[in-house]
Amino acid sequence: MRVLIIGAGLAGLTAARRLADAGVEVTVLEARDRVGGRTHGIEVAPGAWVDAGAAYLGDRHTELNALLAALDLKTCPTGMVGDSRFELGTTENGVAESRPGRFPPLNAVALGELFDLLSDLTARIRPDAPWLTPDAAELDGTTVAQWVDRNLRHPDARRFFPLFLGEMMAADPADISVLHMAFYLRSGGGLRYLNAFEGGAQQDRVDGGAHQLCERMATDLDVRCGVVVRRIHATDTGVTVWTAGGEHHADAVIVAIPPVLADAIDFDPVLPAPRATAHTAPGCAVKVHLVYPAPIWREHGLSGWSVNANGPLLSTVDDSPGEGTVGVLTGFVTGAEAHRYAALPASEQRASAVSQAARLFPFLPTPLGFHLTDWVTEPYSRGCYAALFGPGDWMSLGPTLTVPHGRIHWAGTETSTEFFGLMEGAIRSGHRAATEILSRTPETPSRRSR
Ligand code: FAD
Repeated sequence: MRVLIIGAGLAGLTAARRLADAGVEVTVLEARDRVGGRTHGIEVAPGAWVDAGAAYLGDRHTELNALLAALDLKTCPTGMVGDSRFELGTTENGVAESRPGRFPPLNAVALGELFDLLSDLTARIRPDAPWLTPDAAELDGTTVAQWVDRNLRHPDARRFFPLFLGEMMAADPADISVLHMAFYLRSGGGLRYLNAFEGGAQQDRVDGGAHQLCERMATDLDVRCGVVVRRIHATDTGVTVWTAGGEHHADAVIVAIPPVLADAIDFDPVLPAPRATAHTAPGCAVKVHLVYPAPIWREHGLSGWSVNANGPLLSTVDDSPGEGTVGVLTGFVTGAEAHRYAALPASEQRASAVSQAARLFPFLPTPLGFHLTDWVTEPYSRGCYAALFGPGDWMSLGPTLTVPHGRIHWAGTETSTEFFGLMEGAIRSGHRAATEILSRTPETPSRRSR
């Protein structure tokens, strides 16, 4: 049996590896000149790598942890020892203030009520099929911005909520439905788990960078980079895939790319249901890395973590490489602010990020390095951290997201109802798609155990 896989991200390569292990002839076609998709490493100092894409994981990410072990990769804890910094516009002139722990200096009752509301919403969702949730159509027809208008009265809750949503989902409240927000939180293990460092979804990072997962998986697979798939023609007997460089033939194909990009492929015959709609928005994140001689904030009793109402960096975290060679402060620019920031000239992007870091951590010297990864304009991602399902999307797209169309199968983190949008979701989707293919034909003997 011969299978083509479109996309060399975690989903596509997981499926490819499983199928190759089972003796299937597999070729992976990848648009970029590298593997990894939304995992991407950059070397900020000799031997010191940071994650320009996905970074954090927790102990419930069981398939990801199993893959790390199989590929002989280690994790290191995300540095969160020390006080946090908050620049929420509540102090005179918007000056940053330090606080122990992560609770912002805002009205505790208002934030408590906000989290109660979110928890209640999240608990109502049917995680395996959100479109079958009671009141699904109403929840899906309402944007989160509308929900905020109706439900959040206290100015502190209204100030904090977009920052929370930006950090969790890289989303602007106007872009997503209430059903999508609640589903995302539920799918990722719930509000507390998703938001937590120690014991939660952001507890660890991959030592040396998450990009190594795909690089290692790709080493003994047939992966062709720089190949953009434009058209897929499926018949009763096989599949033909067209790229600028020619055509490829196979018995089946797994499309392991984000939904907006899958929807842009020309399918012949046409699909019975779209993969995305005009409301499916790209999640928006720009990731900034500021490199210092050492994680100097630690000497001042600070964790490097901050939350900021004044952009561009809406939050920061200490992502210093484990070896202790340099200190790295990662800044996240998300949601509507990411659009504004991405449009600035490079010199202004750098100047505003550096001056904000100096406001938050006044003892910092001029950074040794500045690295910016703009996922907003990435043509082969179109949605970071993940695609955002807008009003009506779950009701129209949800029921067919994973249903194979003849010889065409679907993978990618956006097709996983478990840990949707995360690395774990991508890996689980790859396993599901590979299992579907293997169930089409008797398995041949394994050449390598998982
Ligand atoms: P992708 O990684 O997008 O892979 C799809 C591949 O298909 C890409 O390589 C793309 O180039 C290729 N492709 C697209 N179109 C075509 C075409 N027409 N022809 C051929 N190839 C094509 N997750 C976490 O778990 N923890 C985090 O901390 C985290 N943080 C994140 C931060 C950022 C800034 C970003 C961008 C993502 C983050 N994520 C995080 C999300 C995580 O990266 C993704 O969920 C996961 O990597 C998606 O994998 P995938 O295989 O589904 O898709």
